[in-house]
Amino acid sequence: MTAIDGGDLEAARQVLAETFGHGAFRPGQAEVIGAILAGRDALAVMPTGGGKSVCFQIPAMLCEDGVTVVVSPLVALMKDQVDALERSGVGAATVNSSMEREEQREAVRAAAEGRVRMLYVAPERFADGTFMALLRATRVRLLAIDEAHCVSQWGHDFRPSYRELGDVRSQLGDPPVAALTATADPLVREDIVQRLQLRDPEVHVAGFDRPNLRFDVTPVRNQGEKTERIGEKLRSLDEGSAIVYCGTRKRVDDLTRTFQQEGMLCARYHAGMDAEARRRIQDGFARDKVRIVIATNAFGMGIDKPDVRMVIHHDLPESIEAYYQEAGRAGRDGDPAECTLYFAKRDRGLRDFFIEMEHPPPQMVVDIYRRLEAAQGERVHVRDLRDGEHEPGLNAAVQALVDSGLAGKRGYQAWALKPGGEQEIDLAGLEAHRRYATQKLDLMQAYAESVTCLRARLLKYFGEQEVAAACGNCGPCMAPVSAPREELSEQARSVFERLRAVRRMLAQEADVPPYVIFGDATLREMAVSLPQTRQDMLAVSGVGRVKFERYGEAFLGETRVVNDGEADPAPRDPAARRAERQPRRRRDEPGQETPELSRTMQATLELARAGLSIEEIAGERRTTTGTVATHLARLVRDGLIEDIGTWVDNETVLLIQRAAGDGPIAKIGPLKAELGDRVTYEQLQIVRAWSNRGGRD
Ligand code: ADP
Ligand code: ZN
Repeated sequence: MTAIDGGDLEAARQVLAETFGHGAFRPGQAEVIGAILAGRDALAVMPTGGGKSVCFQIPAMLCEDGVTVVVSPLVALMKDQVDALERSGVGAATVNSSMEREEQREAVRAAAEGRVRMLYVAPERFADGTFMALLRATRVRLLAIDEAHCVSQWGHDFRPSYRELGDVRSQLGDPPVAALTATADPLVREDIVQRLQLRDPEVHVAGFDRPNLRFDVTPVRNQGEKTERIGEKLRSLDEGSAIVYCGTRKRVDDLTRTFQQEGMLCARYHAGMDAEARRRIQDGFARDKVRIVIATNAFGMGIDKPDVRMVIHHDLPESIEAYYQEAGRAGRDGDPAECTLYFAKRDRGLRDFFIEMEHPPPQMVVDIYRRLEAAQGERVHVRDLRDGEHEPGLNAAVQALVDSGLAGKRGYQAWALKPGGEQEIDLAGLEAHRRYATQKLDLMQAYAESVTCLRARLLKYFGEQEVAAACGNCGPCMAPVSAPREELSEQARSVFERLRAVRRMLAQEADVPPYVIFGDATLREMAVSLPQTRQDMLAVSGVGRVKFERYGEAFLGETRVVNDGEADPAPRDPAARRAERQPRRRRDEPGQETPELSRTMQATLELARAGLSIEEIAGERRTTTGTVATHLARLVRDGLIEDIGTWVDNETVLLIQRAAGDGPIAKIGPLKAELGDRVTYEQLQIVRAWSNRGGRD
């Protein structure tokens, strides 16, 4: 195309106004159009709905002659665009395989004669010799590649036919190329530039900022605190809707049940539910019949409710794109909305486990191939390919062999297809995918632990150019200067535990959930400020008059004692005294070394640290709860797990210890016989390991 000058952009602005009816360009549009008009390659990265189409449609319309070829992956998308253009009086047509030859020829002829300015095609079309011959007889002014991320193996929509597009350009007489995508992942972006052989492209990333969204991360120490704080947050929702995203279906079920038992009106949604139930929830959500939905990432397609005021993440998402896509469902109406991620250090474990499942270590793929090969084409049950117990990634490893044509698989049976095919295993590719997934997770974790502006982090990740260092509307930007919450001192922690014991007792008496009495934050403040009087107590945030009248004295009973000067006062009520012997909450120690663990134990440990229940771990690992309990007991015995509160509550621990005469526990059978349904075998195993550990307390 001709060199750009101010007149070209002015002409572009006129087309924008006259044909499309928009008064001004959106961020990035003028830059991309300017580059294309100047004959340069361009890569435009804009969110869905950001206005990518006009970036190539306007240059196409400004050309005096020749045609713009638009590559798009889906026939349905093309049809929509062509219809919209036709309605605005712009000539456009599609060419696809369902059309008769004559129709195809007519479309290209219309393009050659200038009646059609844009020809929409699927990438597979370029493999069709007849079509290419027709096209070569026409002047192609611009090759626009929509959904350009399909070219990248890193994207989820990789299309082999997109790969060939780099060569198509030269066959079409070397027109400039405009690539467009909404996928703002740095690696995918690089991949697009490389694979499409863009030459010094104008890369423009724009429109990702959503100023009305307030981003925040709430650090928590464990799953219990997480549930409690998310509950508190949801109860503060006074208008509009909220979505809580969880990492697994099981967590969706559990969290929904917990909240519902607490009397909250909420519904669950995940792909394990039948279609009818899911439709009902979607519908109820759209019509405000249910305002809080707890869901996996399956809840999203077609959710365009404008007044979602909160998007809460219960678990660490796999990547920043995944997070932003889900969080972005908040505040579509432009009014303020909150996006809050709840993060405990151990949450990373669950994601690491998923990576392990999806991207087995290359050596494991090789080992499995060798075993299949040794069977000389005989069918082998997948179960027999593992070392000992189920290993994460086993299925993915077999699948990798199937995908590369080295193995066949039907049901649970697999067999080698090619003897001596080991060299064909794409070790580098497997390793690259694994590393890539880990890198993305690292960046997500860095976000979760960020002490600087969260919005700046997001936008920089996406590649936006001019990003302010602080936005003023996110957690770190709004935190008071003395930001990080102080860790409790040894004394405060022991007071805190006693306050919790009092709370538990009161909650049981009143038959209400503990947080109804006071939240953890309130107890923590009491443990630090040690109120001595009614007045002191009322100054603690979260303590109102009504609550003080009901519960205040019971808590004062604990905080007063400490200031009496007793070094370690004996709490007077039995519940509190018992609390002294409770499992102590372990602090997070992410880098703890576990060199001797087998892979299968390591996997259990990671899931345990991520706070999963026994059933959840068994589900993820496809093994029995008995096996999981055996693992957990061993990990507890070896001191790798110190806090067993996730699997056995304090009351049950005491119950078991009392039944065992408060001594070491030898046999589980008699205890089970005595305690019956009040405990499970799994719990007994874990408590035995915990109680029998040497050198404790
Ligand atoms: P994308 O392809 O990026 O998802 P579209 O090109 O379909 O987005 O545009 C989304 C919407 O934004 C369309 O309704 C379009 O008319 C509108 N739009 C595009 N550019 C502008 C603009 N400069 N001003 C206002 N609206 C615009
Ligand atoms: Zn900020």
